[in-house]
Amino acid sequence: MARLRIAIAELSHETNSFSSVPVDLAFIERCGIARGAAVLEQARDTATVLAGFIDAAAELGLELLPLFSVWITPAGKVTREAYETLVAELLAGIEHAQPLDGILLSLHGAMVAEHVSDGDGELLRRLRELVGPRVPIVAVLDLHANISSLMVEQANILLGYHAYPHVDQRERGRQAGQLLFRLLRGNVRPTAVLVKPPMLPTSQRMTTDRPPMRTLLDRAEAMEDDPRVLDVTIAGGFPPADVPEAGLSILVTTDGDPALARQLADELAALAWELRHGFLGGVATWDEAAAAIRAIERGPLVLVDIADNPWTGGPGDSVELLRFLLRQEARPAALALVRDPEVVASCCQAGVRATMDVLLGGKTDNLHGPPLAVRGVVRLLSDGRYVNAGPMHAGVTVDLGRTVVLEVEGIAVIVTERAESPIDLNVFRSHGIEPTEQRILALKGKGHFRAAFEPIAERVVLVEGPGITGSDLTRLPFRNIRRPIWPLDLA
Ligand SMILES: [Zn+2]
Repeated sequence: MARLRIAIAELSHETNSFSSVPVDLAFIERCGIARGAAVLEQARDTATVLAGFIDAAAELGLELLPLFSVWITPAGKVTREAYETLVAELLAGIEHAQPLDGILLSLHGAMVAEHVSDGDGELLRRLRELVGPRVPIVAVLDLHANISSLMVEQANILLGYHAYPHVDQRERGRQAGQLLFRLLRGNVRPTAVLVKPPMLPTSQRMTTDRPPMRTLLDRAEAMEDDPRVLDVTIAGGFPPADVPEAGLSILVTTDGDPALARQLADELAALAWELRHGFLGGVATWDEAAAAIRAIERGPLVLVDIADNPWTGGPGDSVELLRFLLRQEARPAALALVRDPEVVASCCQAGVRATMDVLLGGKTDNLHGPPLAVRGVVRLLSDGRYVNAGPMHAGVTVDLGRTVVLEVEGIAVIVTERAESPIDLNVFRSHGIEPTEQRILALKGKGHFRAAFEPIAERVVLVEGPGITGSDLTRLPFRNIRRPIWPLDLA
């Protein structure tokens, strides 16, 4: 029997509508696109969705036809030219790969383009138009997807991560491959119901090891034990994508039983509403953070600014954490990261051991605090590339652009050309900084850092400087979300 031919691709972008950094083709090129066989080489044995597709293919004897993969760092809207170019490449690749038995995709589910508010839904619509109803499309979405009914209508099966930090991406990719196989064998008839309660939770308390998400997932996973239920996805959503679909989504897929899917989705939506207040809070004031620093015993205290998180679309160049740390006495301390290509260039020119007077950060827009004048010593210059140790994205190569370790009054600041969230201990170790020996580790993040940093932390404290990625949604001038919505309009 001929092997089933399955096209695979990854196109993942989480759009922060309030970012001033447009995602154009040059931005995407800098994120790195793999094409053809390189997709498989790069993904094999990593903690990613694509590796899960590869696992399923090996188990089930599927032939994979890799098109391209790109994980675009969260930022502003995708330009019309970039969106149209990527979608055209995907469609051309699918056309070229015919005859096909199925398509497996890794998407985010919160991509917004200049001219298309539901970037993933429109992509799926055009794909369906091309391949017709007979070729099944199965896509994996991020836990922060803003799932739309268009996405659900155009795909045969959509399923999302169950874990935040997203440590189950490989498992979900494998599940998607298995479901596609069952579909192609005619063993299942997926029918999905999407319910979106009027909720727009931010993600600082959306991690899945604690309520409310743990409570919701426990119930969802119990539902999945029923053989009639193919998948239950709870997507927390991504508020700063200012689109009507923004917010929490419950998506239940059953085997030919729409009434059951409706019943279970409604039950979970009601439970999410009941638990909504658990998504609030979790952020300390700067005074509380200062008190936590005074109380450090062995360290490290992991201090995280959630308002300039690159993986929520923050520019990564806020220096509020450094401004704060300079007033504290705890040393040694290390900070990851401040994006400032100008400072990187001048430090590279001056060389290691040079003393530099620089105006650091705060240059992208006026929403993330002003720059900070500092005197520092260049301790290290790097190409900014390292491989994650995991658990999240284990084996994945990170590219920060050129980087500099600038030591400012005993604080080691990693200054970069590119914005990325520091989620792995190797962000420090690759720069000659041993994270476990610091009194303070200052990070920009939200939840993903916890997978690697919580096990070594004496304590984790979240704070919120100025910025577009924090927990205070009243800072964001929404125009397109559904109203009324909790917590902005409803109590
Ligand atoms: Zn996510």
